[in-house]
Amino acid sequence: MSLTQQETKITTPKHCPASESHLLPSDSFDTHVHVFDPRLGSYATGRAYTPDDAPLESLLAFNKSISVTGKLGKIVLVQPSPYKTDCTVLMRCLQGLQREGHNAYGIAVINVDTVSDHMLRGMHKLGVRGIRLNFQADGKEFDVLSTVIQLQKAAQRICHLPGWMIQLFVPSWTWDIFHGCIRTLPVPVIADHLGGILGPSKLPPQLRDVPLSQPGFHSLLSLAKQSRVFIKISGLYRVSALNESHFDDARPIIQALAREVPCQLIWGSDWPHTGDGSNRLNRDINVKEPFQPIDNEAILRNVKNWLTDEAWQKMLKDNPGRIFH
Ligand SMILES: [Zn+2]
Repeated sequence: MSLTQQETKITTPKHCPASESHLLPSDSFDTHVHVFDPRLGSYATGRAYTPDDAPLESLLAFNKSISVTGKLGKIVLVQPSPYKTDCTVLMRCLQGLQREGHNAYGIAVINVDTVSDHMLRGMHKLGVRGIRLNFQADGKEFDVLSTVIQLQKAAQRICHLPGWMIQLFVPSWTWDIFHGCIRTLPVPVIADHLGGILGPSKLPPQLRDVPLSQPGFHSLLSLAKQSRVFIKISGLYRVSALNESHFDDARPIIQALAREVPCQLIWGSDWPHTGDGSNRLNRDINVKEPFQPIDNEAILRNVKNWLTDEAWQKMLKDNPGRIFH
């Protein structure tokens, strides 16, 4: 069996009948997916890892497979770190999807010092609605001050573009530090992967019974209450270690968010589920890193069970529909 066949087997579950209510209702958004395709563009030198292949056609098959109708929903392609600021693959995919009449959007990664307004406008036309600042992909030390400066600079660069946002993947405790800065930022923020808020399985013993007391949670919640932050329910395997229960210790966090800020939640599968960054430092960069075998249907079933029907509907359709159009 080739690598591609293996990957398709792991990441493309069979289609289920319409009665499977945990699957995505029609017109749902999957707000966090990636394409890795060396045929469309090469990876950046100095990248932290080389992912396995995940072409657009596999992504579309995956999206259909988790939809109640079996039809393609709305997707947001997020520029992944191995391409750094070269958005060629992202743009080609958005172009192809637009040509075929599909609703697709993008979150790009740009060099704020060199990108031109012309380039940004071109991205906007193809559906890009924001940029991503990823401070967790390479396993290096996290520098708070330089992150705040980058955040402000990036916001200034994109704030004239209609509907653009900044997507941030940061450790949970940093929301306490970013709180003041994000309140006054000229663009809203998308907090990736639960804002990094950890499930009890990844918390130190003294916080396991009180996961909502972990550093950062109340700042993140406060920013969401002020509509400054949208929180992405995605990448649960990055915040929980409980593989077998499909990360069910994320439940108290997701339920608290759904109760407090139901209009600020959006959902993303994070397909094709890249590795978590551990063991990357000494790896041969030319060796392709396998994706994580994630049961997306089981995760969706969990999340659906934890939420009210109203919160589920808002997270999948209404909320992302307000910010991606
Ligand atoms: Zn991702």
